[in-house]
Amino acid sequence: MNSTLEVIENNLHQVEVKDKSFIFHIPTTSLFERDELTGDILSSIQEQDKPTNLSLTKALGARYAEGDIISALGELKSLSLVGEKGLDNDVEEFAPLTLESAPLTTVVLNINTGCNLSCTYCYKEDLDLPSSGKKMNFETAKQSIDMLLSESPDQTRYNVVFFGGEPLSNFSLIKGVIAYSEDLFASKGKLVDFSMTTNATLLTENHVEYFDKHNVGLSISIDGPKAYHDRNRISVNGKGTYDTVAKKAKMLLSRYRSRPIGARVTLTTGITDINTIWDHLFNTLGFSEVGFAPVTSGDISDYNLKPEELADVFTNMKKLGEKYLAAALENKTIGFSNMHQLITDIHEGTKKALPCGAGVGMVAVDHEGGLNLCHRFTGSDQPLLGDVTTGLNKPILNEFLNKRLDKNDQSCATCNIRNLCAGGCYHESYARYGDPAKPTFHYCDLMRDWVDFGIHVYTQIMEHNPSFYDTYIAPRRAQA
Ligand code: SF4
Ligand code: SF4
Repeated sequence: MNSTLEVIENNLHQVEVKDKSFIFHIPTTSLFERDELTGDILSSIQEQDKPTNLSLTKALGARYAEGDIISALGELKSLSLVGEKGLDNDVEEFAPLTLESAPLTTVVLNINTGCNLSCTYCYKEDLDLPSSGKKMNFETAKQSIDMLLSESPDQTRYNVVFFGGEPLSNFSLIKGVIAYSEDLFASKGKLVDFSMTTNATLLTENHVEYFDKHNVGLSISIDGPKAYHDRNRISVNGKGTYDTVAKKAKMLLSRYRSRPIGARVTLTTGITDINTIWDHLFNTLGFSEVGFAPVTSGDISDYNLKPEELADVFTNMKKLGEKYLAAALENKTIGFSNMHQLITDIHEGTKKALPCGAGVGMVAVDHEGGLNLCHRFTGSDQPLLGDVTTGLNKPILNEFLNKRLDKNDQSCATCNIRNLCAGGCYHESYARYGDPAKPTFHYCDLMRDWVDFGIHVYTQIMEHNPSFYDTYIAPRRAQA
């Protein structure tokens, strides 16, 4: 009863936002507003030499009722934010995973290794010129869909994603897969959703009409205004592609009714001007969403953002985040996907043991039917996780996932965003260290600061316009 207490620092992250204090509960990624009594209990424990229940009630008794102190302390203990000194309080148990069956919902089909562009920074290891592109055939695509259902028959909703190279260069396969999947999933009483990322250069009005009819989610790879886009996104003949892409994007945006269209921006060295890029894509071209992917560990290191540029990118993302906040307070959205995803994760209390769904909820199929962690690994030297005829190789998959899940010997074990970041993207680790199981340690401080900024934005919206979450997060989630 009178044992010495301690604050379990490894579970507690406190964030000040304006005149309020919040507790970010690291194990569950939940956020609580910290009241005065809780704040006083925590600081008393930290200040006292040998804090006990008794010494705390004595120290705080002049300002709070004893019952309130005991009850608040009990709550802190139940959250493992305060514990008995000398116990193994700091350790978050690593529970090994043994996947008997993967809860797959998504299959990414790499339907052609060929691409008609020759973007300078492209990471794809199986990329070919259009003339030598290796196309996936219908049989392999069909086996991929069958594999998805046989590996994971109990889901209600599935996703099929078309990827390349340039997926539009194998449009006949896309049509075949959509027709096959629509019939198959409907016959089983399941829902299926399709999406595709394209460079848009081959897009025609006929494609748009077809995709609109089949409710296909589209993302366009475009790097901002002409001066930025044409630096890297060039044709195989070395010409900038902005004019074509912008024209096609306008055509698409003017005709597409079924779903919002997103722009996907790759940030490489020399390009950190987030606001100009967002303004062009959102306001001038009219994309509904703009997402930024900073390149920090590409295969071609010349294109990686330098450390000071990466810091600039995060500073500029925060500036755009302030615009996102100002719009949210007026119940509007500016379509800044990175910010939206972060506050969605905070709102939903997302707790990630692994950084993304790769290998668990999603696999990517290469043109020959080999299974890979995600679309970025097709053609890499990493071992395949099985193939579409034999299914997922669970022992290989389990070994890999457990290596990443075990944070015992890594800085991640004491990181305050360990259950949001979960060690970062496997492909970045692979490109940087040659080992996808190793966490990406090269911009942890920036990531932690970005999450604190997200907490600032989240709490401001929650205080001043909580209905924003009902309007912009709940419906999106229901759709997903
Ligand atoms: S990779 Fe870095 S930021 Fe991510 S959980 Fe590990 S220590 Fe934290
Ligand atoms: S491993 Fe990286 S690139 Fe692949 S799905 Fe996960 S986050 Fe995305």
